[in-house]
Amino acid sequence: MSEPFMKRLPKGSDLLEAITAEFKARSVTKGTFTLIGALSHAVLGYYDQAARQYFSKEFEGEFEIAACMGNVSMKDGDIFVHAHAVISGSNYACAAGHLMPGSIVFAAELSAMPVPGADLLRDFDEETGLALWKQS
Ligand code: ZN
Repeated sequence: MSEPFMKRLPKGSDLLEAITAEFKARSVTKGTFTLIGALSHAVLGYYDQAARQYFSKEFEGEFEIAACMGNVSMKDGDIFVHAHAVISGSNYACAAGHLMPGSIVFAAELSAMPVPGADLLRDFDEETGLALWKQS
């Protein structure tokens, strides 16, 4: 079982990929995390419930990661990170959403809490169109 860990993520990395890499490096298949820091480019998404698809928006500029939180579970046999973020720019206005690929780290501090026990599996959920945790 993995211990809780804290890690600074590399400048210039893709935030979602860098978070995922830290869990994969430790073979952590289930857990939660929080993260704060800054981005030099941001991509956030939201899930259109009627269209049953994600839409994303790119934010040009530099941003504080005022809050980012998420979880780790298993999807299609691989470690999968689900994260949401609240970002703020020079005008202090916030934008928030589902963290998408393409958000570039300026600085990021990850605080991670692995959770022991059986893997948590994601599977396609017909009702929502999302890959959700299987009910046990
Ligand atoms: Zn989400």
